[in-house]
Amino acid sequence: PRTYVITGAGSGIGAVTTDLLRRAGATVVGVDLRGADVTADLSTAAGRSTAVADVLTATDGRIDAVIACAGISLPIPTTVAVNYYGATEFLEGLRPALAASDAPRAAVISSVSSLQPNSAELVEALLSSSEAEATAIAEELAADPRRGGLIYASSKRAISRWVRARAVSPEWAGAGIPLNAVAPGVVTTPMTAGMLTAPESVAFVDAAVPMPLNYHQPPEAIAHLLIWLTSPENTHCAGQTMYCDGGSDVVLRGEDA
Ligand code: NAD
Repeated sequence: PRTYVITGAGSGIGAVTTDLLRRAGATVVGVDLRGADVTADLSTAAGRSTAVADVLTATDGRIDAVIACAGISLPIPTTVAVNYYGATEFLEGLRPALAASDAPRAAVISSVSSLQPNSAELVEALLSSSEAEATAIAEELAADPRRGGLIYASSKRAISRWVRARAVSPEWAGAGIPLNAVAPGVVTTPMTAGMLTAPESVAFVDAAVPMPLNYHQPPEAIAHLLIWLTSPENTHCAGQTMYCDGGSDVVLRGEDA
């Protein structure tokens, strides 16, 4: 059976993806703050490297696919630490082990928020400066109630751009490893539960993320696509952000985008 490593395996999309893969006979090593096989805090550099080491121990260094689902959506600097560095550093740390598989695959979760207003300064810093510099910019945004919300969108814009840049490099495509992202619209998980109770906040979410096809879906809608992208059947998708969002991307960007 194939061996998958899934971050954020304790809840929501990561938990459902873990469950579906295990039912299909795969071996899954879950990583999360709690309730998973490997306990790790992906918001710190030390936590990420411990996570990589513990995963390599748990799998004997044999890994066929990595799916990075861990994320938070709060208007705080930790959001970039988890959503961006918690995915990029973790994936780069496991890449050498992945490259030894005969059908290696990797996927991360972006968001339809990657298309929403963000801080270009933070996005650029994430892609090309140090974590300390990016964190300093996120701290400035977090201190301004009108701009804190840009942090999440910036983390997701940056992860989609990172996937695009790295996917075609010698280390990923050159080593035969498809690397892609999935961008959900609104799926019903603990992350969104609080926003989907009061009618006023539902109206706010619906205006920001219009979903003409099947409205809000459960996490399975995303899990099945992650599973296909990281299966041996995916031999040619690289660097893509697949919007799995009920058509939101089309509504927001228009049919000629
Ligand atoms: P969720 O809150 O149910 O699950 C997220 C998981 O990440 C949790 O188990 C949490 O413990 C883990 N996590 C958070 N911080 C961590 C850390 N420092 N170290 C290790 N693990 C950590 O949320 P979800 O809806 O399943 O979200 C999964 C991914 O999908 C996230 O990246 C999120 O941004 C993205 N996403 C979700 C939606 C949605 O509508 N739910 C939409 C777009 C994108």
